[in-house]
Amino acid sequence: MQKGTIGVTTENIFPVIKKFLYSDHEIFLRELVSNAVDASQKLRTLANFGDFKGEVGKLEVRVTIDKEAGTLTISDHGIGMDAEDVDKYINQIAFSGAEDFLNKYKDNANSIIGHFGLGFYSAFMVAEKVVINSLSYKEGAEPVRWTCDGSPEYSMEKGDRTERGTDIILYIDQDSKEFLEQQRVDLLLRKYCRFLPAPVVSGKEMEWKDGKWEATDRDLVVNATEPQWMKKPSELTDEDYRKFYQELYPGEEDPLFWIHLNVDYPFTLTGILYFPKIKNNFDINRNRIQLYCNQVYVTDSVEGVVPEFMQLMQGVIDSPDIPLNVSRSYLQADTAVKKISGYITKKVASRLDELFRADRKEFEKKWDDIRIFIVYGMLTDEKFCDAALKFMLLKDTEGQYFTLDEYKTLVEASQTNSEGKIVYLYATDKQAQYNYIKAANDKGYNVLLLDGQLDNHFVGLLEHKLENVQLVRVDANVVDNLIRKNDRKSANLTPAQTAILSQLFNSDTAKVEKASFVVQFEALGENAQPIVLTQNEYMRRMKEMAAMQPQMNFYGELPDSYSLVVNTEHPLVKDITAKADDALLATVEPLLQTIDSKNAEADAIRKAAPEGKTSAEDDARIADLEREVADARTKMSDAINEYGKKADTAKQLVDLALLGNGLLRGSNLSDFIARTVAMMQK
Ligand code: ADP
Repeated sequence: MQKGTIGVTTENIFPVIKKFLYSDHEIFLRELVSNAVDASQKLRTLANFGDFKGEVGKLEVRVTIDKEAGTLTISDHGIGMDAEDVDKYINQIAFSGAEDFLNKYKDNANSIIGHFGLGFYSAFMVAEKVVINSLSYKEGAEPVRWTCDGSPEYSMEKGDRTERGTDIILYIDQDSKEFLEQQRVDLLLRKYCRFLPAPVVSGKEMEWKDGKWEATDRDLVVNATEPQWMKKPSELTDEDYRKFYQELYPGEEDPLFWIHLNVDYPFTLTGILYFPKIKNNFDINRNRIQLYCNQVYVTDSVEGVVPEFMQLMQGVIDSPDIPLNVSRSYLQADTAVKKISGYITKKVASRLDELFRADRKEFEKKWDDIRIFIVYGMLTDEKFCDAALKFMLLKDTEGQYFTLDEYKTLVEASQTNSEGKIVYLYATDKQAQYNYIKAANDKGYNVLLLDGQLDNHFVGLLEHKLENVQLVRVDANVVDNLIRKNDRKSANLTPAQTAILSQLFNSDTAKVEKASFVVQFEALGENAQPIVLTQNEYMRRMKEMAAMQPQMNFYGELPDSYSLVVNTEHPLVKDITAKADDALLATVEPLLQTIDSKNAEADAIRKAAPEGKTSAEDDARIADLEREVADARTKMSDAINEYGKKADTAKQLVDLALLGNGLLRGSNLSDFIARTVAMMQK
């Protein structure tokens, strides 16, 4: 019998393993089962090359629980090991600086295990004693039995195994009894070993018999040894892809489509990525892609491995080239990972391009569903963005789709403004902005529909990517001014009329909370609306951005700013103007003159003062003038107010405009209704 100490430089590796690897204990099963599968694969390879001439037999891996003995055994019929192998592969875990490393990565079991090939030793996370019973495939090999009780001392002796292969017997420790439960073990096998390339047997198939589940004598194979992603795309039908999707995500609606990844140069990568149907913008499930390394499940948190936007997708990526067993931050910095991520991006873009070219109609049908992936991708990945500009579609409010080039051609002639910029009009809510959309359409403009969750960012991106294009929401101004041309008519009001009408129309807006209004006058023609409420594009975008980013709070706090555009050519407005002229001009004009002349006088005094320093006498005179101006203003305001109480057409028009924008609520709304009824009875 050979006795020895396992060759590690740390005093005692096992307490370290137990202590530091606490959170990830369950992965021991993945490590041991995949070792067993590896050993089986190796034997098949040897047999294929004629280096093993014996009977290959059934190469399945068996996981057996013996509750009485307190053991969990992983058995295989692979290549096995002789004493020399055990010495080399198990006893000599030679590494230097182990302690430093363990300290550095103590929170990440995967990184330690992966880095040093400690796969086998992860058994000690759950076992107080581990026995290896093995017989090598080599001719005339002697069976070997290795025992270790968790101290660095092991014993190795001649074993009694008569069949080729290896048993790894774990004497499960007191704290880990859960791993003696068939259900727990099955769950782990399903998680980590579901697609391992050799059959893994655990327990028996169950059968519903006489009103209860009973074990049959048929072995239960827990895995699919040839998962779809390992097959050639040409061997698979659409149905196969859908079925596989259901296997991965049972009960979910069929995916929109998929991309089969298959590369072997400059790295090896296979996989299937699905575009799931995202039902509403908010049910974005991240981390739904599963990462495999040679069919061994590693993780489903793929942050840093696949581009951010692809975390909206589902499916499987399998690559031995992704250093899967290292920490996340290491992954993100890894150049191989960057290359892989770049490759996946390119592949996804080219597949989308292909779909677009192959069947535009079909692509349009799917567009609304896949748009969120593409927009997210364009916003977060420059390369993807540039590729996507080729198949990106814009949809207008009538449901027509255009490529970017097509759209430009469509609107270039009619929607270029006086500065030579092409203005793309868009709506974010087809119902709420119906009036504005209609006004724009009537004028011969096209209006895009950008109602997605990410669209306020997307608007900025389009402006950045498209040359000489400006996007303006359809309610940002009255239709005549949305796209400014040189043929504008001015409103032609005298200063007194402006003062009167501004106050008349504005008196009614104060009741709207968290909003500020500026009255403007435009000659929009007698057929246009009497009042249009518009929202400044820049301020609105800022506020929308602020809503998503806490650091922009300043903008979020500001009230919504609206322009109340009064159409001076509308008959009702003309009528209001004429009546107000009759009632108020005689009062207002002299007051305005007073205000102007007093202001002018005060200014003159200030200007005349040497070096801008007014004397005490000057100051007293200025104060007097200012008081007189204030008096005149009050008088004017009172007069207009008094008149306004009787003239409710202006109020009515403002309320209609507010109503059209959903701003008239509560008591304001019931006042409006009452006033309307009263007016109709007159
Ligand atoms: P890794 O699998 O990363 O090389 P492990 O510690 O898991 O590291 O295993 C060390 C080595 O022990 C393996 O490379 C293999 O040569 C050998 N080994 C482990 N388990 C088995 C097994 N079931 N059959 C044959 N050889 C095995």
